[in-house]
Amino acid sequence: MIVIGAGPAGLFAARALAGELSVLVLEEKARTGGAGAMTDGKLNLSPRIGLDLEELRITEEEAGARIARIDEAFLEHGADRTLYGVDKERIDLWLDRVSWVRHPTPKGDWDITLLPARQRHMGTDLAHRVVARMTESIAGDGVSFSLRTKVEEITLRKSGGPFLVRTSKGRFASRYLVAAPGREGAYWFREVARSLGARTRWGAIDIGCRVEVALPVYGEITQVLYDPKFLFVTPSHGDRTRTFCTNPGGRVRVEIRNGCRLVNGDALKRRKTPCTNFAILNTVSMTEPLQDTTEMGRKVMEFANFWGGGDSLVVQRWGDLTAGRRSKAETFHSAALGYDKMTPTLPPGRGVTPGDISFAYPGRIVDNLRESLLLLSRVIPGVAHPSTTVYVPEIKFYDTKYDTDRHLETNVPNLFVAGDGVGKSRGIVGAALNGMLAAEGILRKEGKA
Ligand SMILES: Cc1cc2nc3c(=O)[nH]c(=O)nc-3n(C[C@H](O)[C@H](O)[C@H](O)COP(=O)(O)OP(=O)(O)OC[C@H]3O[C@@H](n4cnc5c(N)ncnc54)[C@H](O)[C@@H]3O)c2cc1C
Repeated sequence: MIVIGAGPAGLFAARALAGELSVLVLEEKARTGGAGAMTDGKLNLSPRIGLDLEELRITEEEAGARIARIDEAFLEHGADRTLYGVDKERIDLWLDRVSWVRHPTPKGDWDITLLPARQRHMGTDLAHRVVARMTESIAGDGVSFSLRTKVEEITLRKSGGPFLVRTSKGRFASRYLVAAPGREGAYWFREVARSLGARTRWGAIDIGCRVEVALPVYGEITQVLYDPKFLFVTPSHGDRTRTFCTNPGGRVRVEIRNGCRLVNGDALKRRKTPCTNFAILNTVSMTEPLQDTTEMGRKVMEFANFWGGGDSLVVQRWGDLTAGRRSKAETFHSAALGYDKMTPTLPPGRGVTPGDISFAYPGRIVDNLRESLLLLSRVIPGVAHPSTTVYVPEIKFYDTKYDTDRHLETNVPNLFVAGDGVGKSRGIVGAALNGMLAAEGILRKEGKA
């Protein structure tokens, strides 16, 4: 059988199938690990983060038990043993602090909520070793990996298989397929899946910004909760936003997607910067007259790049944003404006243009991002310092949903899907859990589970 993609979803599917079936993993890149396992490698170990229990139709208890096995697998292959989010006394102090500053919303919930979670951090510099060891042991258990092998086409002669898989290195036939193409391969695979008859629908998309602050501003909380998850309900629109992917001592990074620039962030384990970055994401879904969230996200990304001068991120100091003026290169580090307090890790010049986010982004999203940061500043006042730096566009494209059963088998018999690219997860651990579910589905069909 074939697994497409060697990200966490594909690797954990292959791992669970190793020794039971003959497994070939096809990966376009020259290495395994996919997007995140090769970058920052924060492992979110809470069933409420990075996966949607309803979409997966599993209980919190079941997810918790599987996450424990995933964590164990990462540890076995050398992940750092430091666990964040376990110091109950200090977490309670944070929860207490939030409880004193939150306000009720008209819908009956709170405008700011802190969701504690257990987390580990592998680090961009060490995650690749963990992934390499894991790949080696999966290969040792009998799984074959074909790297630099791009799957180009999948066809089906008759229902139930076998699937005929055309790749850059030749053709393969397979009774089962686990497609785990990640966000990068999502739209290629969506077209392929539709041509095979798979039912898909549009899901929500996350559009937001990356915020960068001086390390001490956020240090008190990140020592307890490495990647603190704050949830907001914004006052003007009642929309839901959240903090995401915090990188204490980290770097803001550029991610290229379809020729456009997106912002992202990571952190090394061994070398720290004097800054912390995190995203604030606004979940957007569409109903009428359009539901195509992919196209919407693409247009937002292109327009923001256009506003950056054609092919650039837009960066703005919080002091400029709140004063209603654009940021400029000449004043970007101005001591008179307080901007010398924090030197961004991705300063203007390298694909980043100082400008005005309120021109570059949809109005409602700018309102939501601005209000979210103000809500956060009730708990962590320093985030609203004028030197705080905001970058756009940050967009998470996991907006195609597939109708699947409990083991992620689509309506096309023997076609299983897993991971971020098919809208079933939003992180390394969630993707790995998907891979396990799909593998179990196949083993059940083979009478081996
Ligand atoms: C910069 C960055 C930092 C991140 N940091 C974190 C973090 O700290 N913690 C966290 O939980 N998440 C993080 N993420 C998110 C995380 O990367 C994803 O949630 C996770 O990798 C999804 O796993 P996946 O297996 O679904 O897809 P991916 O990891 O994207 O893997 C999919 C694989 O499929 C391959 N592929 C696609 N199409 C084809 C094709 N046609 N033929 C062959 N191969 C194909 C791709 O090359 C890729 O290797 C980060 C992401 C980025 C970009």
